[in-house]
Amino acid sequence: MQLLDGKSCSEQIRQEIAKTVSQLKADGQRAPHLAAVLVGNDGASQNYVAFKVKDCEEVGLESTTIRLEDSITEQELLAKVDELNKDDAIDGFIVQLPLPKHIDENKIILAIDPAKDVDGFCPENVGRLNLGLPTFISATPNGIMELLRRYEIDTEGKHCVVLGRSNIVGTPMAVLMSRNTNPGNATVTIAHSRTKDLASFVRQSDIVVAAVGRPQMVPGDWIKPGATVIDVGINRIEKEDGKTKLIGDVEFEGASKRAGAITPVPGGVGPMTMAVLLANTVTAACRQAGVDEPA
Ligand code: NDP
Repeated sequence: MQLLDGKSCSEQIRQEIAKTVSQLKADGQRAPHLAAVLVGNDGASQNYVAFKVKDCEEVGLESTTIRLEDSITEQELLAKVDELNKDDAIDGFIVQLPLPKHIDENKIILAIDPAKDVDGFCPENVGRLNLGLPTFISATPNGIMELLRRYEIDTEGKHCVVLGRSNIVGTPMAVLMSRNTNPGNATVTIAHSRTKDLASFVRQSDIVVAAVGRPQMVPGDWIKPGATVIDVGINRIEKEDGKTKLIGDVEFEGASKRAGAITPVPGGVGPMTMAVLLANTVTAACRQAGVDEPA
């Protein structure tokens, strides 16, 4: 069994990004600049944004965090998005989700300039992904593809089941796995909460991508021997000592005995997501400056 170590793989990507950023600066460009908009005091969102800022610093990117009160109106947030769209010093930005209930997330996503949408959530970028055109691909599925690529996992002609059909993980993941690319060229099934007999789909799949958000909902004995298991789920559970720990959507212990390759939680998909966001920011900066994009 091969552990798909997202932590070390993302470290490698960070080093490559740091090198690219140094080269850009040596060529007279300013450092690529990522902004993150954080609305309210959600603990998980604050942590994610703090990690993103730290990551930027480590690879030499500029970063700005814009903290806004929970009480901000939709109009005010739209005005902030417009300001960032027009700010030449910002190459890419994200609006950390979820947003407070009184704000329509779709309206906010629609307002982001596609050229700065490094999360790849806006309709133009989603459409470009579907057409196989240059775009920003949502960081989590893109990070998974990068992990598969770097570990040279053979996906061609394999049956891949994607559990979950969200706009940011499951659906783009299914599109990417079915495209005529490497990795890709898989035969893909998308499963969701209305899928009947989920076990039968998982049992026959060579590649399982679990993106549901239910702790250990995939028991180890569902995994086909030799399958590749990508566990996207991040579930916080309380341990007996009152502390919390993170577990995935797959029962790791049992699955790792059957799988050919598997991602751990934590240390699998999460770090890859972060690294790819940084890479997308560098790409955005290069496109806006009209210089060659890093390979
Ligand atoms: P969503 O809640 O948006 O989507 C969950 C999906 O799971 C839905 O499509 C839902 O189906 C489906 N689902 C729910 N219950 C079942 C079930 N019993 N059987 C099969 N499918 C089911 O979640 P996200 O896609 O945003 O995230 C999924 C998980 O991935 C979460 O744990 C999240 O924290 C994690 N995540 C991890 C990231 C990382 O970097 N590692 C990044 C992003 C997310 P339906 O559409 O019918 O409701």
